[in-house]
Amino acid sequence: MDFGTQRRMMVERQLVQRGISDERVLKAMLKVPRHLFVREEDLYRAYDDMALPIGEGQTISQPYMVAKMTELLELKGDERVLEVGTGSGYQAAVLAELAREVYTIERIPSLAERAEEILRELGYENVKVFVGDGTKGLPEYAPFERIIITAGAPEIPRPLKEQLSDGGIIVAPVGSKYSQQLVKLVKRDEDFIESYHTLCLFVPLVGEYGWKDE
Ligand code: SAH
Repeated sequence: MDFGTQRRMMVERQLVQRGISDERVLKAMLKVPRHLFVREEDLYRAYDDMALPIGEGQTISQPYMVAKMTELLELKGDERVLEVGTGSGYQAAVLAELAREVYTIERIPSLAERAEEILRELGYENVKVFVGDGTKGLPEYAPFERIIITAGAPEIPRPLKEQLSDGGIIVAPVGSKYSQQLVKLVKRDEDFIESYHTLCLFVPLVGEYGWKDE
């Protein structure tokens, strides 16, 4: 089966049937070639319903989790988004389809380099890749209208809450190292309205305001 057909099946069975309904998110997931973000030996399962290894002990998230987090961000198209945990760059590409600018930061240089290369090849000129500890955010580019953390956090790092603009949204997996829940924060006059969503399992967010070790 060709990749386009696999992608259509992924969207129908893994996303639509599980309740993802934001048409813009579905369209972006139909468009971004996920198979170009996985390792060659995983091409045969690039569109399977699972996270996959990308090297360095890290993973590209399950398609459903990418769609769910993106839907929770409520992107309209003119936002500046910060992503913490670039990994393969796949989530960044989906965000780039839906927002004005994407700033994505990865702590492992080899992953950041590979992600930047593929994003450039695909023509995503509205994505900037940074290497560093994303738990500190990117103060020189703040504030951001949206922030997404794609690694499991013990709590939402304080610098990221500070770098969110008023009315902005943060989505992150929060919990222990072995299980988390998607948390959505909406900032209103220095207050945060919290809601809780899907249970999930992400690799740990490692850094000054995250886990101290892997
Ligand atoms: N969004 C990614 C999923 C990446 S998995 C994708 O679509 O493929 C989580 C990534 O977060 C890993 O690559 C890991 O190295 C990175 N990470 C963990 N702690 C980090 C930190 N403090 N700052 C930046 N990246 C971090």
